[in-house]
Amino acid sequence: MKIIVCIKQVPDTKGGVKFNPDGTLDRGAMLAIMNPDDKAGLEAALRLKDQYGAEVTVLTMGLPKAADVLREAMAMGADKGVLVTDRVLGGADTWATSTTIAGAIRNLEYDLIITGRQAIDGDTAQVGPQIAEHLGLPVISYAQDIKVEGDKVIVQRQYDDRYHVLEAKMPCLVTALSELNDPRYMTPGGIFDACKAEITTWGRADLKDVEDSNLGLAGSPTKIAKASDKVRKGAGEKVTPDSPDEAVDYIVGKLKEKHVI
Ligand SMILES: Cc1cc2nc3c(=O)[nH]c(=O)nc-3n(C[C@H](O)[C@H](O)[C@H](O)COP(=O)(O)OP(=O)(O)OC[C@H]3O[C@@H](n4cnc5c(N)ncnc54)[C@H](O)[C@@H]3O)c2cc1C
Repeated sequence: MKIIVCIKQVPDTKGGVKFNPDGTLDRGAMLAIMNPDDKAGLEAALRLKDQYGAEVTVLTMGLPKAADVLREAMAMGADKGVLVTDRVLGGADTWATSTTIAGAIRNLEYDLIITGRQAIDGDTAQVGPQIAEHLGLPVISYAQDIKVEGDKVIVQRQYDDRYHVLEAKMPCLVTALSELNDPRYMTPGGIFDACKAEITTWGRADLKDVEDSNLGLAGSPTKIAKASDKVRKGAGEKVTPDSPDEAVDYIVGKLKEKHVI
């Protein structure tokens, strides 16, 4: 079995989000980490490797420093790493990102593709299902448990206060939740091997069956019209009515004043 795990390097938002004066994320001022949902997806793939001897390839699209996240994944146990990086791919929205990743995946053999449900920076949860659409694959999202039996994958899909059990014949794509498992730590031997491991690096010319018009900033249909901080609410007004009736009269008066009622 061959498994591809798509991993995004994201800024660590735990220490607070930092912005440039123009409103864009100041990525340089924040630590870069493996997106949490992707780490759980990787752990699920590594457990399938432990169980069935699957080959696990991790793939990321980003700046050259995104190779760090691939080395971390390899130190955890992934077999191969693919970095997709090229200036012409920069500024991609979800459509251009998924087009790029699908173009890279067309060069690889796979039975199962795992992505995270959502990246903690972009937060759209669109890239996984879009990759599946580009490749013509079935997709099961929000996986909180993944099993493989023969040629099918069986997934518990989180849904409000319950879960659904869904099956799909491989090849297919599954999007993973961080609740899926507790990812393993890197091992000292794994770190040593990962430092020396060769990472396959692809650019625009290596992408298969993609049009330039669907790549990078120029190929991104989403345009950011404006970015701004949240407007803080004022301190509010504190009143101390003498009776419940007075409190009701005050609130009703305010609602009328604001034309709510
Ligand atoms: C006009 C425009 C310009 C932008 N320019 C930039 C820019 O210059 N730099 C920038 O970083 N962002 C940029 N973005 C944000 C960019 O759209 C998202 O980073 C990207 O498309 C992924 O979307 P998401 O973060 O919502 O991922 P989600 O859809 O929430 O991610 C779901 C899953 O898909 C997989 N995935 C997502 N992205 C990647 C990736 N790159 N590699 C591997 N797997 C991945 C992961 O498994 C992830 O868990 C731009 C957005 C717009 C609209």
